[in-house]
Amino acid sequence: MKTNIHELISQMTLEEKAGLCSGLDFWHTKGIERLEIPSLMVTDGPHGLRKQKESADHLGLHNSVPATCFPSAAGMASSWDRDLIGRVGKALGKECQAENVAVLLGPGTNIKRSPLNGRNFEYFSEDPYLSSEMGGNHIKGVQSEGVGTSLKHFAANNQEHRRMSVDAVIDERTLREIYLASFEGAVKQSQPWSVMCSYNRVNGEYASESEFLLTKILREEWGYEGFVVSDWGAVNERVKALQAGLELEMPSTGGIGDAKIVAAVRSGELAEETLDLAVERLLTFVFKAVENRKEHASFNTAEHHHLAREVARESMVLLRNEEGILPLSKQGTIAIIGEFATNPRYQGGGSSHVNPTKLDDAFEEMKALAGSAELLYAQGYELNHDGINEAMLQEARDTAAKGDVAVLFLGLPDNYESEGYDRSHLSLPESHKALINAVAEVQNNIVVVLSNGSPIEMPWIHKTKGILEGYLGGQAFGGAVADLLFGEVSPSGKLAETFPMKLSDNPSFLNFPGEGDTVEYKEGLFVGYRYYDKKELEPLFPFGFGLSYTAFQYSNLRISKSSINDTETVQVTATVKNTGTRAGKEIVQLYVSDVKSSVIRPLKELKGFQKLALKPGEEQEVSFELDKRSFAYYNVNIGDWHVESGVFEIAVGSSSRDIRLTASIEVESTVPLALIYHRNSTVGDLLDNPRTADKVKKFSSIFGMEGAMDDNPEMFMAMMKYMPLRALVGFGQGKYTEEDLAKDLQEFNALAVE
Ligand code: BGC
Repeated sequence: MKTNIHELISQMTLEEKAGLCSGLDFWHTKGIERLEIPSLMVTDGPHGLRKQKESADHLGLHNSVPATCFPSAAGMASSWDRDLIGRVGKALGKECQAENVAVLLGPGTNIKRSPLNGRNFEYFSEDPYLSSEMGGNHIKGVQSEGVGTSLKHFAANNQEHRRMSVDAVIDERTLREIYLASFEGAVKQSQPWSVMCSYNRVNGEYASESEFLLTKILREEWGYEGFVVSDWGAVNERVKALQAGLELEMPSTGGIGDAKIVAAVRSGELAEETLDLAVERLLTFVFKAVENRKEHASFNTAEHHHLAREVARESMVLLRNEEGILPLSKQGTIAIIGEFATNPRYQGGGSSHVNPTKLDDAFEEMKALAGSAELLYAQGYELNHDGINEAMLQEARDTAAKGDVAVLFLGLPDNYESEGYDRSHLSLPESHKALINAVAEVQNNIVVVLSNGSPIEMPWIHKTKGILEGYLGGQAFGGAVADLLFGEVSPSGKLAETFPMKLSDNPSFLNFPGEGDTVEYKEGLFVGYRYYDKKELEPLFPFGFGLSYTAFQYSNLRISKSSINDTETVQVTATVKNTGTRAGKEIVQLYVSDVKSSVIRPLKELKGFQKLALKPGEEQEVSFELDKRSFAYYNVNIGDWHVESGVFEIAVGSSSRDIRLTASIEVESTVPLALIYHRNSTVGDLLDNPRTADKVKKFSSIFGMEGAMDDNPEMFMAMMKYMPLRALVGFGQGKYTEEDLAKDLQEFNALAVE
């Protein structure tokens, strides 16, 4: 194939080569008829196809062909189920083949820095490991059908506010450990056919022009083999972007970008080899798509709807279940209140907007499973008007009073969260809050079903007994809600993000969405639970939390070795038993903490998870493999991941705040850091290094404290810790000279790298 492509490139004119580097129109790449290079179609993504017909836009304004609308990423991530996401990917791949689409534009693995980001529904998590695992499996699924993906939006596109111009200022360690790590795992494990660069700037450079991101990190460090496409309209300077590693500009610029490339080659500003390499990467993709094309492919809409219902069920999170109000009894009277019960909010706005093949109505789906229970309905609020409708509230009170329980369908209307802008608060609409208050006047048994793409505040929580977080559950939202409310299946989703008590608790609150065109990520590594843990701040619901109708017991945590070095891996196993009376699934989470570290680290970080299906009384062993990366932080001085030798705690639990088992392991680094001591290194620096610590004793004599290091080492250490070595000369009053210091520095440096 390679030789053919080279051959082909040699037959192309400069204009043809430049032409391949931008779109034909909104959704197609250019073909070259005389060389039999076809034009291919790409479409959004990520959780359903948005194949547009005549009128094209990238904001989801115009209609598209019917396609299965799966839950959006915020929901899917709450399933924590790699296989299930892979199956969704496969189904999406089949739909792409049926519609002759070569690339599905997704998934998006940007980190949820703030719950206000209007596009959070399209992203997976606040945690990079969970996010990249979900993204990676989505990609594998789609690509297993011979269809490409476009992992987006690379990188640090964590807000919609001024998204095309804002500069995200992020220190390198945070960038690596949080924002890039979320892409890294997905790229390395699944090789997406394409990566889409984001609109924004990162540390001063447009992502589309960042050689650091697009070439050094993506290709050289992570081994990426596909091509880079711009987000729609993300190219600032076409030639600079090509030089940085951006092969395809989308959508078409009517030849403007191509002409700039041609002129730059002619003037010598751009090496023709750079263009040839870009064309080679694009043609590799084109022929891969052609080879994998399945003519006459079709898909079964009923089967995909069924899968959408299964995924939605697995994605919803039971947040509250006081007095076991759920599952609902299939007898008596149930008052269903809220327009979302019949007119669901099941997907987000913008480029991911899908035209579903079918749309469940929760009220009808509940009726179908209600047994002999009678279901009543009241609208409760007007979706299209934010204001409070007193007549509707009264009707809701009357209806709720007749029920044994009232189920309220609430959430965020379409215009509350969307691509293109951020939210400004975490509240439900006034009319929804008024509905809770009104119903609570007449009914004690209130269950709330939420439709929203991102956390909300719940000052009304105490008026309810049950809360089911439905997220944006896709076209089978209604069926899945019915399954869970009536206990056909036990809820098994867990939060992939923290729900704060209030917006101002969120770590990015002081610096979101920034000032003018700059947003500084001043909270650094402390995103999501990493912050709430360290600050000992009680969230409304913690990361990893979700209830079940059954109960699980954890036991027997074992680590295969008590110590390893950082080139080795270790197995961690535990036993989980379903001790309740219903079948259920448990998401077992593994967190790692560095017990003592010389660098600032989060209290614990997610490094493994498994979802287990257990029948009542059944137990299963769950197993995790940990490697260097599970223990490492990104050391900016050596430009690599580094493990600091010492003890690490392994915590296994049911949520980030419900750790059931702990054990520890010793990890030894095989990479000594070449600490170069200098005049302003401190005595403490020397004490911290076992290779030099012993030699430090000699300094005690300078202060007439001979033997202090042996008699009272803690005190000596505390007093001397922050003393720079050069100060010993002054304090030594002649007992310690500049010459002594120079000799010692030589010795310490030799010891340090020995
Ligand atoms: C969005 C992308 C999308 C593209 C094409 C852009 O505005 O940011 O996520 O894939 O449009 O619709």
